[in-house]
Amino acid sequence: MNLESLAKPEVRTQPVYEPGKPIEEVARELGLDPAGIIKLASNENPFGPSPKALAAAHVALAQGELYPDGGGFVLRRKLAEVWGLKPEQFVIGNGSNELIELLGHVFLRPGDEVVMGNPAFVVYKLVTLLFGAKAVEVPLVNHCHVLANLAAAITPRTRLVFVPSPNNPTGTANTEAELLAFARGLPDHVVCVFDEAYAEYLESPPDLRPLIAEGRNMICLRTFSKIYGLAALRIGYGYASADMAALLNRVRQPFNVNAIGQAAAVAALDDREFTARCRRENHAGMAQLGAGFGRLGLEFVPSVGNFILVRVGDGNRVFDALQRRGVIVRPVKSYGLPEWVRVTVGTSAQNERLLRDLAAILR
Ligand SMILES: *Cc1c(COP(=O)(O)O)cnc(C)c1O
Repeated sequence: MNLESLAKPEVRTQPVYEPGKPIEEVARELGLDPAGIIKLASNENPFGPSPKALAAAHVALAQGELYPDGGGFVLRRKLAEVWGLKPEQFVIGNGSNELIELLGHVFLRPGDEVVMGNPAFVVYKLVTLLFGAKAVEVPLVNHCHVLANLAAAITPRTRLVFVPSPNNPTGTANTEAELLAFARGLPDHVVCVFDEAYAEYLESPPDLRPLIAEGRNMICLRTFSKIYGLAALRIGYGYASADMAALLNRVRQPFNVNAIGQAAAVAALDDREFTARCRRENHAGMAQLGAGFGRLGLEFVPSVGNFILVRVGDGNRVFDALQRRGVIVRPVKSYGLPEWVRVTVGTSAQNERLLRDLAAILR
């Protein structure tokens, strides 16, 4: 019997996630000096982690022989303080990606439906398919989630609906009023998942905590991979009712989040100056890219995240050509956007370099 045929059908048909290539790999493949390569492909923070988070990570590393705190006590206590919620209302994950998977473990049976926008973060669909559930994809309108259209796709079989704001890869967001009204209108057999991976980049992020107080079936997902600059440490969290957090905590592995990540995350939450500076720099960098794309006559989607979609003609060709010049961006053909690439907002020098190389390629 061949091994493949022993695997569950959902595993055999699972699509492959294609991550942005690491700098070292691109350097090896193209014979380039890694020091000259810039990566604007995965929405990482070009300013790195906060120095305070880095110091805390160093301290934690010295105790690397010990298992981490499986309950994430210190981090959940810190999060409770930051959010004005209780520690029992938090679940921490190996990146918020793991939390998406945990939602599948808790809520999805074969044949269930999961409602999501298209294009939206591909992991929603991958997790849905992995649990034998059906992905019900609702096209965005002008690159935006129209929440009424998501609501219209809900059936008695729907278990989860994903609402990312700001959305990846489009960088568009819904207002607080829209998000609250949407959740309040959902039938109670549906769990609403707000993915707030980029919320820290907003000037005034929506406050969805009233929905928890009202007893709605919902969870908000956050990550330390974006504005906190800790993507390598794989740590994210969800906040919700204590009941929701307890369900997710029941299905996670006992030591799912490493001690270095937990320590760094606690310190990162304390360094508000750092995140404020990153938010300002991102804003300036976004304006710089927008102006540069304008000069090149390129259409772009106004974004409130730390990345931007720009229409370059043949996205894969421009991705390749940029990569050969040592600038890694993200092709988005797999998201149904073959004419576009997604570019992470870099430092001012990185943005300048991207614009220069883009101009040379398109000339
Ligand atoms: C980057 C991103 C995440 C975060 O992933 P991690 O697993 O926390 O690194 C979650 N959702 C969206 C939409 C993202 O773009």
